[in-house]
Amino acid sequence: MNVSVPKEQAAGERRVALVPEVVERLVQSGPQVTVESGAGEAAHHPDSAYEEAGATIGDGFTGDVVAKVAPPSAEEIGRLGQDSVLIGFLAPLSAADTVRALADRGVTSFAMEAIPRITRAQSMDALSSQATVSGYRAALMAAQELPRFFPMLTTAAGTIRPAKVLVLGAGVAGLQAIATARRLGAVVQAFDVRSAVKEQIESLGARFLELDMGLEDAEAAGGYARQLTDEEQQRQRELLAEEIGKMDAVISTAAVPGRRAPLLVTEQAVKNMSPGSVIVDLAAETGGNCELTEAGETVVKEGVTIAGPLNLPATMPDHASSLYARNVQSLLALMVSDEGELSLNFEDEVIAGACITRDGQIVHEGAKQAAGVTA
Ligand code: NAD
Repeated sequence: MNVSVPKEQAAGERRVALVPEVVERLVQSGPQVTVESGAGEAAHHPDSAYEEAGATIGDGFTGDVVAKVAPPSAEEIGRLGQDSVLIGFLAPLSAADTVRALADRGVTSFAMEAIPRITRAQSMDALSSQATVSGYRAALMAAQELPRFFPMLTTAAGTIRPAKVLVLGAGVAGLQAIATARRLGAVVQAFDVRSAVKEQIESLGARFLELDMGLEDAEAAGGYARQLTDEEQQRQRELLAEEIGKMDAVISTAAVPGRRAPLLVTEQAVKNMSPGSVIVDLAAETGGNCELTEAGETVVKEGVTIAGPLNLPATMPDHASSLYARNVQSLLALMVSDEGELSLNFEDEVIAGACITRDGQIVHEGAKQAAGVTA
């Protein structure tokens, strides 16, 4: 089996699908690896490091398996062989054109986002590995943008009170944001509609923000949140607006898979914050948790700095790539036979669950719906 790694083309994408350390392990276990020249450059891995690890520098699209990070462009899909296997983030629930083009090209594609989040597949969970990076960076951004200290300081010039930070959504990114803000010394509260996370929030030294929403629990299949009803959302926004007004910084990470991000921070909530406060909206990519977020921009509105960063993992390409590469390596281990040949077992729930296109068809249920394919 030959695995190839293209240089990522998407604007601002600095990650690479395999790093030399992982290439070395792969090559020792059998597969050959070809890496496009410069593929690892932005993640600080020169071609020479890949060669030392046992890879060949060459065409990144010619492998039996092509390992990528970002969804492929139309041009990149055109470079894939008709019978090739593609692994990468494919945005199967939102990038319908990409998925259709992959099916039309005859590519067998596997989306990292669609790998079932079961215990056996934890080492392949790229949503989690990259969300860890996003949560960490979001907390640093909040600290950087805030014109005040995060920690409490007792100095000869007086005592500084610690910043109050609210984290909305305590999934993987939210929990990492809580941990990072705590390490910087902020007083942290967090809220999620899944009551199961209360304990996790408290174990990180933060307080679970109790909102009297009349909600039992909003945990749905797979441990994800269900979408709240219109009345529940309205009530949540009103209750949050008051609490947000007491905060120095809000880091919002709330998401519901395949849907627009829930709107949690209204214009009124922003007005309630004191000037100089900060909102970092990690949900900017899917519409934003804050009504005033501008995706990809940092703006000041009502005296509040509102950052809507896109693709934060790409801003920390070294560790983001090395974690992602280990996720890819674990998935590849499921795709190779004892003889070192490519072998896809569609009886395996991880292989079947992550597969988006195969034999010219879209085979993933969510991707089919997104692409408007009827049974
Ligand atoms: P996500 O990115 O889909 O959502 C982020 C958070 O937003 C979630 O915690 C969600 O409950 C919350 N949210 C949604 N609507 C909200 C609202 N209206 N108000 C406040 N919060 C809201 O989530 P994620 O980080 O990908 O994690 C989702 C789940 O998957 C978690 O239960 C996590 O523990 C689980 N998980 C399991 C595995 C595994 O077993 N392999 C790995 C990672 C995560």
